[in-house]
Amino acid sequence: MIFTNPAGAPELACDECGCRWFDRLHDACYECGAPVSAAALSEYQRALEEFGKSCSNDRSRPSTE
Ligand SMILES: [Zn+2]
Repeated sequence: MIFTNPAGAPELACDECGCRWFDRLHDACYECGAPVSAAALSEYQRALEEFGKSCSNDRSRPSTE
């Protein structure tokens, strides 16, 4: 699931337990180990891009490569 944090940035949360901790190497939840669906990831990426456009500079862009 995706929700928006108080700062207005999109946050990806686990569909199973609702936590926001993900192992980005494996695209799985840290808490319950549920895999993150490709649909959720692409939705999140799109939300991030929307958020980036609404910001006037690139410094707020997360660098989690
Ligand atoms: Zn979880």
